[in-house]
Amino acid sequence: MTFTTANPKITRMNAPPDADRWYRAGLQFRCTQCGNCCTGAPGFVWVSEAELHAIAKFLGEPLEEVRAMHTYVARNGRTLREKAGGDCVFFDRSDGCTIYPVRPTQCRTWPFWESNVSTPNHWQETRDICPGAGQGDLISVEEITNRMNAIRM
Ligand code: SF4
Repeated sequence: MTFTTANPKITRMNAPPDADRWYRAGLQFRCTQCGNCCTGAPGFVWVSEAELHAIAKFLGEPLEEVRAMHTYVARNGRTLREKAGGDCVFFDRSDGCTIYPVRPTQCRTWPFWESNVSTPNHWQETRDICPGAGQGDLISVEEITNRMNAIRM
């Protein structure tokens, strides 16, 4: 999974207010379903207990089984497992994300993480791996902040 913390030194504590953001006019994004963010180099997709409950319910599988089969503990949290080759355990090369309606917050908020939008250069780096970033729907600065506040990345 390509998901990583691109710049862990940037946090909301030193984040500027919306009006001072370089992207105060908003940023464009529309997912092309390319799968780049769910495949490739190793990464982490942090998943909360509440999100695990939702995934288990969606799959119709016991919570303990989903926890054991599809997640593991890394650093200070629980993350989704990867298939051999690096694809997210829930990513299917034909069908895409198989838990899309209940995907974790980290996936829902991509690409609008502080580490991805803090500077034009970081946004460009994000665009380099995510073809949906920089095109499609215009997302307001307020909505971008809402998504950033949902998870610290
Ligand atoms: S990399 Fe971007 S465009 Fe591709 S699946 Fe992920 S969010 Fe969508």
